[in-house]
Amino acid sequence: MERKILLIYTGGTIGMKQDPETLLLKPFDFHQITREVPELKKFGYVVDALSFDPVIDSSDVRPEFWVKLAGIIKANYACYDGFVVLHGTDTMAFSASAMSFMLENLEKPVVFTGSQLPIGMLRTDGKENLISSIELAAAQDAEGNPRISEVCIYFDSQLFRGNRTTKYNAENFRAFRSANYPPLAEVGIHIRYNTAALYRPQVRGRELLLHTDLDTHVAVLKIFPGITEPFVHAVLATPGLRAVVLETYGSGNSPSDAWFLDALHAFTAAGGVIVNITQCQAGTVDMGAYANGDILRRAGLVCGRDMTTEAALTKLFVLLGQYADNKVVAEKLGIGVSGEIS
Ligand code: ASP
Repeated sequence: MERKILLIYTGGTIGMKQDPETLLLKPFDFHQITREVPELKKFGYVVDALSFDPVIDSSDVRPEFWVKLAGIIKANYACYDGFVVLHGTDTMAFSASAMSFMLENLEKPVVFTGSQLPIGMLRTDGKENLISSIELAAAQDAEGNPRISEVCIYFDSQLFRGNRTTKYNAENFRAFRSANYPPLAEVGIHIRYNTAALYRPQVRGRELLLHTDLDTHVAVLKIFPGITEPFVHAVLATPGLRAVVLETYGSGNSPSDAWFLDALHAFTAAGGVIVNITQCQAGTVDMGAYANGDILRRAGLVCGRDMTTEAALTKLFVLLGQYADNKVVAEKLGIGVSGEIS
């Protein structure tokens, strides 16, 4: 049977052009993408396209955007073999992480891609990213099942698990990195799948469930030498705050000042959730490694292990939306849901 892919254009550089007067990049009409990439017509499968209206710079992504995107995937899930989401690179890792938690029982590929240079430019990276993403989203194994059954980011010849990915370069074509999990596929002359790293559903044919109640009463607090008491207190006193992603040093260490630990402890003792995520690009939090990590364990922090900040934040949005009891959220936070923790 003919394979069908749905291309969802949300905005981002891939579909932008330069305003001749201001020279600033602004989104343009999606139909120009198909004009710029006539190769789309050459695929041996059906590629349908739909566009957000308005399309946005991904710096404007909000949780409501994720709810809309998840709804589009759900509404079209039965009719398509795979989904390619064209998205700006700035918040792509957040959106891919959010989708990985919002789409439960996902068995089909959802491949995010974009570009560093607009698709209309001669040296654009957008064409290859787009064409290979469609190829990946349509790929099937010998049994006719999708090769990819999860949310991914494809960029510059590498396919990554979406909730393991971070944007780390604002200029290079190689803009994304997945430091704690290997690429799911490498695209060169051949597409080489890392079968051992790909998620395999145990059973197939389950209903796709959506989690669209997102509770955003979360703060990200990055510690730094010289962090002050009023600043930490102001963050923790944010009205309605239920959870904090604390970005710590190295393997999960923090300053040992009594005022700092007391502030964290008061927050967790009052029922708030704090997850310990490292500021490092690679490696894991281990609150048992150093005395300065152990103090955080004693202050009631949840160990985020090797989760990215993007994954921890969006996972919290979903868990807080699902459970009114913060204790349940804290318990679930440290347990892997969709491959986001080693
Ligand atoms: N600001 C753009 C966006 O994220 C950058 C990009 O597409 O790469 O939408």
